[in-house]
Amino acid sequence: MSFRWQMISIATACALAFILIYTQPETAAPGYTTSESLVAQAQQQAVLEAARASQFVTHDRQLRERQEQLRAAEADLAAKAQAGAKMIASRQMFQQSKGGAWLQLITTNRALYLTLRAQAAKLPGGVTPCTICDGKSYMRGCVVCDHNDGKCPSCKGTGRTVNHNYCPVCVGSGKCFGCNGIGRMLCPFCDDGMIDVRRAPPATTIPIE
Ligand SMILES: [Zn+2]
Ligand SMILES: [Zn+2]
Ligand SMILES: [Zn+2]
Repeated sequence: MSFRWQMISIATACALAFILIYTQPETAAPGYTTSESLVAQAQQQAVLEAARASQFVTHDRQLRERQEQLRAAEADLAAKAQAGAKMIASRQMFQQSKGGAWLQLITTNRALYLTLRAQAAKLPGGVTPCTICDGKSYMRGCVVCDHNDGKCPSCKGTGRTVNHNYCPVCVGSGKCFGCNGIGRMLCPFCDDGMIDVRRAPPATTIPIE
């Protein structure tokens, strides 16, 4: 055999080997036949699709929940605004009914207040310690809340009306407006325990704002 024919035979053998190796049917995964592998692939695909569908359902549910939360928050804000619009008028009722106790507090301490104010006027800074509240800036109790418990006199601290709406007196906080919920009113005569000559004398009606 000539060298040329030897080369042709080798080339043909190589081509055949190449064709045999690379045109075999798809190799099955170890331990599986080809059909088992296809079933496994289909199952895997189904699992993936189910997971995608479930993800979509979850996302959709979360979106609806978020929308419901937003709607509820909007309704809540509107309800609060409605209660807030009635606040002054609602507090005026307590301003009147508790007005006697407030006026008594003001008149009882009026002479002492005027003396302290005159003293403050003579001092360079125009201030002197308040002896009405012992310089603590808080009174012993509150004329608005019953038993000085700090609870709103209208809803008794629940923040709601009997119809489950926001209480217009405290606008849902449940706190007494006279003492801001602590059961002791701020001293109406001083600022931080100091009588200041530049400060206006206390109002004769309960502040409601
Ligand atoms: Zn005071
Ligand atoms: Zn109070
Ligand atoms: Zn209330």
